[in-house]
Amino acid sequence: MSPSNKRKVFYTIYFALLLLPVVAMLLSGKLTGNFVREFALLIGFLGMALAGIQLIFIGKIRWLADALDLDKVYSNHHKISLVAVFLIVAHFLLVSLLAPVRFGFLNVFSAPWMFAAGSLGLFGLVLIGITSAYRKNLKIDYRVWLLIHDLLTIVILVFGMTHLFKVDYYMADPFVRAVWYLEIAVWVVAFLYIRVIKPIQVGRKPYKVVSVLEEAPQTYGLNLVPDGHAGVPFRAGQIAWISTGPSPFTLSRNPFSYSGSSEAPNGAIRFSIKVAGDFTATIPNLKPGDRVYVDGPYGTYNLDDPALQKGVVLIAGGIGVAPVMSIMNTLTDRNDNRPVYVFYGDLNEDTALYPQEFEHCKSVINLKFFQVLEKPHDPNYPFKGYITKDLMLANLPENYKELHYFICGPAPMLRALEKHFAAMEIPESQIHLENYTMA
Ligand SMILES: Cc1cc2nc3c(=O)[nH]c(=O)nc-3n(C[C@H](O)[C@H](O)[C@H](O)COP(=O)(O)OP(=O)(O)OC[C@H]3O[C@@H](n4cnc5c(N)ncnc54)[C@H](O)[C@@H]3O)c2cc1C
Repeated sequence: MSPSNKRKVFYTIYFALLLLPVVAMLLSGKLTGNFVREFALLIGFLGMALAGIQLIFIGKIRWLADALDLDKVYSNHHKISLVAVFLIVAHFLLVSLLAPVRFGFLNVFSAPWMFAAGSLGLFGLVLIGITSAYRKNLKIDYRVWLLIHDLLTIVILVFGMTHLFKVDYYMADPFVRAVWYLEIAVWVVAFLYIRVIKPIQVGRKPYKVVSVLEEAPQTYGLNLVPDGHAGVPFRAGQIAWISTGPSPFTLSRNPFSYSGSSEAPNGAIRFSIKVAGDFTATIPNLKPGDRVYVDGPYGTYNLDDPALQKGVVLIAGGIGVAPVMSIMNTLTDRNDNRPVYVFYGDLNEDTALYPQEFEHCKSVINLKFFQVLEKPHDPNYPFKGYITKDLMLANLPENYKELHYFICGPAPMLRALEKHFAAMEIPESQIHLENYTMA
């Protein structure tokens, strides 16, 4: 199925799950004519359906990997969560304004169980909102946060549904009840998929370490080969979620771009990893033969896409050069002759990665390479500072608006480049952003 058809199927299911409870409620024949009350209940239903849909880890559904932009999936996840919080808080406020005694139900110790459950769900939602929005300010470790996030999700859905079933007004209608059973079934399957089925699938195709090479200070090339299988094909520019250790059952995996050629023999893959915290600090300790679980590939970038055939511009900041290396090495292995322009920004000559690989690619493909160093050691270094609009315009061909742009790096760099692209009038459809700053 084509990516656009996949998107249609996915969004049809998504909106059906979102709207079915409300449609069932409206068809139930139990509407009382009290508009504020009905509206309050309707947004409660909508908020719960939306909160439940969040359990479907859209970004980890392989079937959708070439159809949905990961960056958008994650930023939408945050926005949708906020809408769910807003709807459910609004539901509580409206029903409590109609009968102020309900404000007292926030005290879960004295409230009747059916309302205490609702309040517990509400507290869970508010907590998930606060811990997600202020994780860094609150100095919560990423893995601890993931655990809190999972537990609070369960609290919200279990207590929220207990509230809905116990209040038993619309739920008394068999169709409404059936719709909510369906929603719960989907949530349970989604949860089992990500926590049980996915690890089993990933565990069936493990990789083992061949070498860990220090490419620059605090940056390592992790070279892997399939362990007992033929390998999992990927496209240059895609990413995978990685975990190490004896078992594929783990709370969190970390995302990394493939940095080797997709044409490498024997299913060999490479990741280029910069130390940023707990997980990445363990990479240099990996030994040849150690096990690595690779959940991938994901991501929509596709060198075979017709929109990329007139030429590609690859822009990288720091370790964002990883997918650029994969794209360049793949084009080199394929002897591809389309024009390729690379603008690579890094700190200085020591931190800049893969100089030999760039030289090799230059000798094989139609590549123009500009390495921009923020603080070069060489006082006469030609490209100092940041990648700017002027630098791009001075070095790109006249038809630069027809080229396809791939940008990977930290969020501030992406924001700066987005402004340059707007000024250069590059159509958004010709731009692929890969944001390394997440969650
Ligand atoms: C799509 C994508 C591709 C990436 N590709 C590369 C790459 O090729 N090479 C590279 O060096 N880095 C890459 N990164 C960044 C890399 O994933 C993080 O640096 C790494 O996960 C940090 O983990 P840590 O435990 O070492 O550090 P921590 O201190 O735990 O985390 C540092 C920050 O990284 C983010 N992070 C941590 N764990 C996760 C997780 N499981 N999922 C999402 N974000 C997380 C959080 O924002 C966190 O604040 C990529 C990030 C994304 C989103």
